[in-house]
Order: sequence, then C-alpha cells, then structure tokens
Amino acid sequence: MPTLFSRILSGEIPGEIVFENEKVFAIRDINPVAPTHILIIPKTEIVGLSSLPAEGDHLAILNAAKEIAEQEGLTDGFRLVINDGADAGQTVPHLHAHLIGGRALGWPPG
Ligand code: 5GP
Repeated sequence: MPTLFSRILSGEIPGEIVFENEKVFAIRDINPVAPTHILIIPKTEIVGLSSLPAEGDHLAILNAAKEIAEQEGLTDGFRLVINDGADAGQTVPHLHAHLIGGRALGWPPG
C-alpha cells in the first residue's frame, strides 16, 4: 500500500508539487506553520530517519532544500526539520523534511 505522500506524487490524492527530480519531490504542507512550509520527500518509501539505510540518496534532500529555498526567495534564512517517531510528533511514516521559512522562527521548538 503506497504511503500518503506517494499517493500525492502519483496524483491519486491532490497536492501541489513544487519541486521534483529523480530522487525526491516536494509539496506544500496542508497545514502550514509559516508562510513557506514545504515537505521534501524521498521517492523511496523510507519510514523515517531512524530506519534510514546506510547507503542511499539522502543528500538529495539537502540539495533540494537549498534549491527550493532559493526558489521560494528565503534569503533571510529558513529551517529544515525532520520529526522521527512519537516523541517528535511524526504523523506520516514516510521520511520527509519540513522546509519552513518566511518569518522569524523561535528557538527552541516546543
Ligand atoms: P510530521 O508530523 O509527520 O513530521 O509531518 C507530516 C506533515 O504532513 C504535517 O505537517 C501535515 O500537516 C502534513 N500533511 C498531512 N496530510 C497531508 C496531506 O494530505 N497533504 C499535504 N500536503 N500535507 C499533509
């Protein structure tokens, strides 16, 4: 059974795909916490960071983040967050990084 994010990629579930290459794709979060809130998702269905294989295309997530931040005009900065597991509040079991920006962000997170 494909994950929620894979179903968005295939077009089965609606979602605005803002970036795509052979390794990753990116969609706008349905419940944004900042003016820019984009999820960067590897096309390979990895559950989360704690089950990341030793080898793979993970660098593609960081490269996509840099490119999307430029695309979104986030010249004053942005944040990249990966929630893993229950304590971090991960709700979708398909690895994804949140690219958040467009306003000043507080630290530490809640
Ligand atoms: P997590 O809590 O797992 O780190 O992040 C999952 C994110 O997916 C949440 O920020 C949530 O708003 C977003 N999300 C959940 N369902 C959908 C959906 O159907 N479409 C989009 N675009 N985002 C979703």
